[in-house]
Amino acid sequence: MLPGSSSVWKKFQQIRVDMVSVDFVICTNCHHVLTYKKSDGTKGMHAHRCSSDQPNTPLQTRMTSFTVQRTLPPTAYDNLKTQMVKYVACDLRPFSSVSGSGFQALCQTLVDYGAKYGPSDVSCELPQCTTLSRSVPDMVVKTKADLCSKLSSCNHTALTSDGWTDNFRKIAYVTVTAQYFDFQHSSQRT
Ligand SMILES: [Zn+2]
Repeated sequence: MLPGSSSVWKKFQQIRVDMVSVDFVICTNCHHVLTYKKSDGTKGMHAHRCSSDQPNTPLQTRMTSFTVQRTLPPTAYDNLKTQMVKYVACDLRPFSSVSGSGFQALCQTLVDYGAKYGPSDVSCELPQCTTLSRSVPDMVVKTKADLCSKLSSCNHTALTSDGWTDNFRKIAYVTVTAQYFDFQHSSQRT
């Protein structure tokens, strides 16, 4: 059954990642995420009972970061799209940079600041690149301390690593990813 052809779609929204529908839907009321395949129909969604309607239901990990909950008017959305394409073209960045978690966190901070402090001229507010690079050593110390604290408080950690070489500058890189569950039993990746 196609999304939209059953009454249950008034309550659920198809989740999209990079504008491609994936096998998950989200309840627009309680933000609970369910698996959904077209071939399986909407039975699972009909059976869903909102956790917000049930007292003392433990909070579950939400996947709202993957949802498209657009509140912008179409013209504003189109303008945003144009500005993002201009950013990619003018600054010679890959299109994928706009999907990066760092870019999205930066955008969210700017949106939040706009709401909290009102409109302002970004050319006056954004720190200079030298200011940023000088702040890195302090951030490294802080991030390391934060990471040590998190990892020392978990019982089990799964480590994976990846290595590659920059063929142009002949620099070798290794990344290590740690996956663990925190006190709230939500999966963490760092
Ligand atoms: Zn619900």
